[in-house]
Amino acid sequence: MAENKGILIYGELASGKLAAITTELLGCGRKLADELSEELACLLISDSAGEAAKEAIAFGAGKVYTVEDPSLKQYQAESYFQALDKLVNDTKPRIILFGQTAMGRELAPHLAFKHEVGLSTDCLDLSIDSSTKLLLQTRPVYGGNAQATFVSELLPQIATIRPKAMSPLEQDSSRTGEVVPFKVEIDASAIKVKVLETVKEEVSGIKLEDAPAIICGGRGIGSADPFNTTLKELAELLHGAVGASRPPADNGWVPEAMHIGLTGKIVAPDIYFAVAISGASQHIAGCSGAKHIIAINKDPEANIFKEAEIGVVGKYEEVIPALTGKLKELL
Ligand SMILES: Cc1cc2nc3c(=O)[nH]c(=O)nc-3n(C[C@H](O)[C@H](O)[C@H](O)COP(=O)(O)OP(=O)(O)OC[C@H]3O[C@@H](n4cnc5c(N)ncnc54)[C@H](O)[C@@H]3O)c2cc1C
Repeated sequence: MAENKGILIYGELASGKLAAITTELLGCGRKLADELSEELACLLISDSAGEAAKEAIAFGAGKVYTVEDPSLKQYQAESYFQALDKLVNDTKPRIILFGQTAMGRELAPHLAFKHEVGLSTDCLDLSIDSSTKLLLQTRPVYGGNAQATFVSELLPQIATIRPKAMSPLEQDSSRTGEVVPFKVEIDASAIKVKVLETVKEEVSGIKLEDAPAIICGGRGIGSADPFNTTLKELAELLHGAVGASRPPADNGWVPEAMHIGLTGKIVAPDIYFAVAISGASQHIAGCSGAKHIIAINKDPEANIFKEAEIGVVGKYEEVIPALTGKLKELL
C-alpha cells in the first residue's frame, strides 16, 4: 500500500477568490511541508476555480487539485465530501488541514470518521515532531483556560485551524506550481440534503472577523443604547466594529451575531477593547488571539486585567467618551 505523504489543504473560496483562512492554512502548511521535505497541495472544489488556483500557488501551494462541476457551484456537504474523499483516497496525504469554519467543522469530522483516524479541532499552533514526522496539534482546552498538544498516530492526521491563528505568506506570483484538474463523478443518489435557500447575514459596516479594532461591550454596559452610541462612535473612529460578550446578546441588547467567545465569534483584531467585561474564560476563548487587549472596568479586581496589556480602572461612561475625544483631537 502507498505510503501517506505530503500535506493537503482544504481550500475555501469567497466570491471566486481564495478565502483568507485558506491563505493562512497555506502559510502554515508551507512551513510544515518544508520541514518534512514533502509536497504542499491544495484542493479547490467549485463550479469553476478560475484564478483561485493560481492564487493558491502564489500563497505557497506546490500543487492545486481543482474539482470543477456545475453541480458544485454552491457548498453542499455530501457532494463536496465525495470529491474530498476521492482525492484523499487517491493521493494519500500524511496531513490534512481545514479551517475551523462552517465547512471545515462539517467536512473534517466526516473525513476522520470515514478513515477511522483522529481529529484535533480549533488548533492554534502546529509543528512537526522531527523524530516521528508526526504533526503536533495544539488547541485550547477547559474553555480556553489552558492549551494542550495532541498527537494522533494514525494517518492521515487531520486538524482544523482557528481563523487568524496562522499568518499567510506574502502573495508572490513568481512562485511556481502545478494545477491538476481532478475528475470526480458525483453520485447524486447519495445526496440526501437539499439546500433550499441561502440567506446572507446583513452586516452594516465592517465584519467583526475582519475588523482591525473591536470595541466589545459586556453586561456592565447596562442596556442596548450605548452599543449604538458610545461604543459605536469609538469603533467608527478606529475603522473597527462593535462586539459584545454573551449577556448583552442573551438580553437582546445586540444581535446574536455580535457575541464573541466560546459559543460565539472567534476574533483576532489588532486592538480589542474589553469594556465592562469581567473576563470569564468562555469570553477570552473568543478574543485571546487579539494582538493587544485593552480593558476598561470599574472593578480593579476584574479578571480581565490579567488578560489585558493595558487596563483602565473606571466607569466606561467616563473613560470611553474621554478616550474618543482625545483620539478625535489626535487623528
Ligand atoms: C458553556 C458556556 C459558554 C459560554 N460562552 C460564552 C461566550 O461565548 N461568550 C461570553 O462572553 N460568555 C460566554 N459564557 C458566559 C461567561 O461565563 C460569562 O458569564 C460572561 O462572559 C460574562 O459576561 P460579562 O463579562 O459581560 O458580564 P459580567 O461577568 O457580569 O461582568 C460585567 C463587568 O462589568 C463591569 N462593570 C459594570 N458596570 C461598569 C461600568 N459602568 N463601567 C465599567 N465596568 C463596569 C463589572 O465590574 C464586571 O466586571 C458562556 C458560559 C457557559 C457556561
